[in-house]
Amino acid sequence: MSTFQAPKGTYDLTPPRSAKFLAVREAISAPLRDSGYGYIETPGFENVELFARGVGESTDIVTKEMYTLTTKGGDQLALRPEGTASVLRAALEANLHKAGNLPVKLWYSGSYYRYERPQAGRYRHFSQVGAEAIGTEDPALDAELIILADQAYRSLGLRQFRILLNSLGDKECRPVYREALQSFLRDLDLDEETRRRIEINPLRVLDDKRADVQKQLTDAPKLRDYLCDACKAYHEEVRALLTAAGVAFEDDEKLVRGLDYYTRTTFEFVHDGLGSQSAVGGGGRYDGLSEMIGGPELPSVGWALGVDRTVLALEAEGVELDLPAPTSVYAVPLGEEARRVLFGVVTELRRAGIAADFAFGGRGLKGAMKSANRSGARYTLVAGERDLAEGVVQLKDMESGEQSAVPLAEAAAELAKRLG
Ligand code: AMP
Repeated sequence: MSTFQAPKGTYDLTPPRSAKFLAVREAISAPLRDSGYGYIETPGFENVELFARGVGESTDIVTKEMYTLTTKGGDQLALRPEGTASVLRAALEANLHKAGNLPVKLWYSGSYYRYERPQAGRYRHFSQVGAEAIGTEDPALDAELIILADQAYRSLGLRQFRILLNSLGDKECRPVYREALQSFLRDLDLDEETRRRIEINPLRVLDDKRADVQKQLTDAPKLRDYLCDACKAYHEEVRALLTAAGVAFEDDEKLVRGLDYYTRTTFEFVHDGLGSQSAVGGGGRYDGLSEMIGGPELPSVGWALGVDRTVLALEAEGVELDLPAPTSVYAVPLGEEARRVLFGVVTELRRAGIAADFAFGGRGLKGAMKSANRSGARYTLVAGERDLAEGVVQLKDMESGEQSAVPLAEAAAELAKRLG
């Protein structure tokens, strides 16, 4: 192993590609910030019990993928594998739900950790932007979140994504379905592990990717046929609101998702350019989660969008983000006096909000102009002794190649004017 290798399943974000990650986080959070969602930040780790109770003791995330550790003081902690349980825990701790304004709408952005088998689009450290609307049962809230995610992806220029939608029922109808499904599954020819899954979380068997399993599932009882009237009406309303908003979706009965806490609405955003790890984001309603972690009844809904996979999706579609050049003006001094003077101009430009950089390290003209080129700057300022004696600097337009002398005292103002 090389000394300079990031741990397995992880990678570093380095310039210039890292700029895309910032742009994606910005684009996903912008519609949330405009829709009443406040920013929340929680620790990167939590007591392990929060996830065991919240995410579900039968899920792969908790049984196989969690990074757990015991502190020197004996606390059992886990690096967060997802955001929802932490955000709900934090909202309860801060009593946000008692402030009188429901739903409590929150958004977050951060690193998540799962000990998964790494492959393209699946990492052990990844990054999500998420949103949660806590304390209200209203189909318009489910619709709002799906519409905002759709808006975020579209604002980035993504087009080849689809929205899969399902309802998982509630605490009335889901148990009845669960039992019907279990008795169907028990009669099938399945391996030991899948048999165990039938008893713990039968819905997840429907998600099995193996063809021989899928073949046996053709006649499995359908959740749709078991939804109670309240769940059916709720789901129809979500569908109607999405349709009215012009957001296309596909009904997907098999969409159960990997977390235990979902009820009613579940959805996933999949991108067709990503191969097997096609989910760029997902979420749903989790009416029982608050009680599962020891809180009051707080019906809620939320989603998390994967930043890494969204960047991969942009690259798969060939979308070029309209990223502003990191540097607008690059200053190249020739000689000690020019260094001092141009350094001052760069400082002035920066204070005026113009992105400027400087040829550090006292290189010659040729090397410094190469750096100016690489920086992507639209303008270069060059000054030598003779220019200073005349009270001017040379201003070069890097696009047209035109160069003209500008009075030193007016250089910053002239650049501000040209850069609009
Ligand atoms: P989940 O919490 O599993 O619903 O994941 C929500 C989103 O996070 C997914 O749609 C992915 O975009 C992203 N995601 C989840 N797990 C990983 C992973 N191991 N590597 C990269 N992205 C992930």
